[in-house]
Order: sequence, then structure tokens, then C-alpha cells
Amino acid sequence: MKVPQNDQIQTDKTLSALDAYINRVYRIIVLIIPFFCICASITITALHLTGHYPDINRTALLLFDLSDILYLLIGLYLFYTGFGPDGIVLPAKLSAGKYVMALILLIQWNAISYLWPFMDFWAYSILFTLMLALFFDVKLVLFATGGIVFSMVLSWIVKGSRLLPPNDDYFIANMTFRIVGLVLMLFSINLITFFGGKFLVEELEKYVNYDTLTHLLNRRSMDNYLQEAHRMAKTGMAPFCLLMMDIDDFKHINDTWGHECGDEVLRGVAKIVSSSVGKDDCVFRWGGEEILVLLKADEIIARRVAERIRIAIQKNTFEYNRTRIGVTITIGISAYSTEKGIQDMMNEADKKLYDGKRSGKNQVVF
Ligand code: GH3
Ligand code: MG
Ligand code: MG
Repeated sequence: MKVPQNDQIQTDKTLSALDAYINRVYRIIVLIIPFFCICASITITALHLTGHYPDINRTALLLFDLSDILYLLIGLYLFYTGFGPDGIVLPAKLSAGKYVMALILLIQWNAISYLWPFMDFWAYSILFTLMLALFFDVKLVLFATGGIVFSMVLSWIVKGSRLLPPNDDYFIANMTFRIVGLVLMLFSINLITFFGGKFLVEELEKYVNYDTLTHLLNRRSMDNYLQEAHRMAKTGMAPFCLLMMDIDDFKHINDTWGHECGDEVLRGVAKIVSSSVGKDDCVFRWGGEEILVLLKADEIIARRVAERIRIAIQKNTFEYNRTRIGVTITIGISAYSTEKGIQDMMNEADKKLYDGKRSGKNQVVF
């Protein structure tokens, strides 16, 4: 396999469906929440100026309007500075953006509760949390809904005279409706987030980072793991090796028994490789039938592991349509040393692999 010649191993950095989704949600949320706040400002200011809400402290109203303009500026800043050169939202900005927006919503909630107490305001809590569900981030939505419930209960204690229903025969009924409504509303938002996070985002993530045929990590996800291992090795904390392996005469399998059989064998080989390494090691599908192992160990252990994998595959037979098929693999090893970059290690492992292919296959070359 030809190893690309770059500073970093260039993995396929095209925008995944998940990146595209998060990019859009980030762009929309950091603008729409400030926009909602400005809508509240316009509504309350207009009501006041037309005499329908006379008892407002003018200074407080001005501060409220100014803070809503500030939120818009914050939103615009996050919007324009949130993206890396690859067009994907930066992880730090994403997490800051989410929590800053949740905080803005909480501040806005409290400002309205105390400055313009409105008895039915509790029913608006859904407006202050629902948008955040688009991120499918359970912790974020729990933070926002928890914050709203806490603020609301506190405001009922502090401003009960305006925010609680009148103390008449219907008080208990009104409060019961209120609390049941709140619990169901906020529970629903958390449930949507949980299900979306668990079954949409996690599934999408699998498609982004894992190969669908072999269930090994794919080339796209490889770069981060290699960079991290290299960083750790540089600090002297943990040595690592790269094992580049390729199935011998795989074309022959495809030609003799068909591609479906080839796929079955490939899956079987991937399974053996994965189960032969530790849980801290990473196994990638590097190319068609080439597998790369990032082994967190020194060269002596790497040779032993590689030999174990080679023998396990040689001994095994894969069943396809009641035929038993045997394959072998050739492995090239490159061990980390201070002068080698990741690219050098990839080249070295690749060269060793092809040395092995030229000199008889079914062997480990180091
Ligand atoms: P060598 O011992 O030199 O490696 O010989 P080889 O026949 O294995 O040659 P090579 O590695 O160059 O060829 C790999 C073949 O693997 C070519 C391609 O048709 C096949 N292949 C690649 N990906 C897949 C796949 O996902 N499924 C199947 N069935 N075959 C694949
Ligand atoms: Mg091959
Ligand atoms: Mg090959």
C-alpha cells in the first residue's frame, strides 16, 4: 500500500454527516438564542412604551435591553470564530458555545421572573430549554432544565405574591397542574435528548469512526490516535510500535470463491487481530485488506504479538459455504525512536511489509 507523503498521515477529513449536523446546529443556536432574547426585549419594551406595563423600573429595562444586545454580540463572536481551518466546529468552541447559551437562557429567565413577574411564566420553561436539545447532549439539557427548575422554585419563594396562583379554593389544583405540567415537559425534553444522543449520535459516530465491514477503526479516525501515541512516546512515558499487515494472495481468494467469501475472510482476520491485542491498542483498517495495529509496547513485545497474530491466522480456517479456507498474513513492524516521526514509522512499517512479501510472505519483518 502506498503511504501518503505528508507531515501528518492525511486521513479522510471530508465532513462527516455528524460534523455537518453539529456545524449547522452550532451556527443556528448561537444566533437563535440571542434572537429570542431580543424578541423578549422588544415585546416588554413595546408593552411598556405603549402603557400596558407601566410599573417597570426604567433602568432595569435599559439594562435588560442592553444585555440582550450583548448576547447577540457574544453569539456573533461564537458564530464567526467557532470553526477550524477544516470547516469543522472547534471542540472547545462547541462546548463553550453550548454552555454560554444555556447560561444566557438562565440569566434571561431570572431577569424576566424578577423584573416583570408574570404568573403563567412557568409554562414558558419549555422555550428556555427545548432549543438546546438539538445538540443531543444529555448533560447540557440536564444542566439547563435543572437550572430552570431551581430558578423557578426560588422565584416562587421570593416573588410568590406575583408568581404563585391566588390563595383561593383553586390554589391546590392550580399548583398541581403547574407541577405536573412542568415535570412532564422537562422530562420530555430530557427524554428526546437521551434518545437522540444514544440512538442517533452514537450510531452516526460509529459510522464516522468505524469501518462497516470489519468493525475496525477506520482510516479517518487514525490520525488522532497516532498523534496521541507519538506525543506520549516523545515524553518518554510509553513506547509504541506500528504493525502493518496485509493478507497474502487475497486476490486469489476473491477470484476462486468470490468477493463475498473474501469479505468473510477479511472479517475473520480482523476479529483474530483485534482479539490478539490489548484493550489499549488500536486496530485500524488501513486499506482494502491491510490492517494497521497501534501497539502500546516496545519492539520486543511487538515482535511477540505480531508472531502470535501470524500463527493464529495461519492455524485458523474460515468457513464459507461449507468450504474451509486458510490464509496467511505478512507483517512489517516499525518501533518508535526519538528521531522518527509518524510518517517515517508508517513508511518503515510499509517497507518491512513489502520486504516480507518479496521474500516468501507469511512472516514478520522488523
Ligand atoms: P499479496 O500477497 O502481494 O498481498 O497479494 P494480494 O493478492 O493480497 O494482493 P493485494 O494485497 O495487492 O490485493 C488486495 C486485493 O484485495 C485486491 C482487492 O480486490 C481485494 N480487496 C480489497 N478490499 C476488499 C474487500 O473489502 N473485500 C474483498 N472481498 N476484497 C477486497
Ligand atoms: Mg494482500
Ligand atoms: Mg493489499
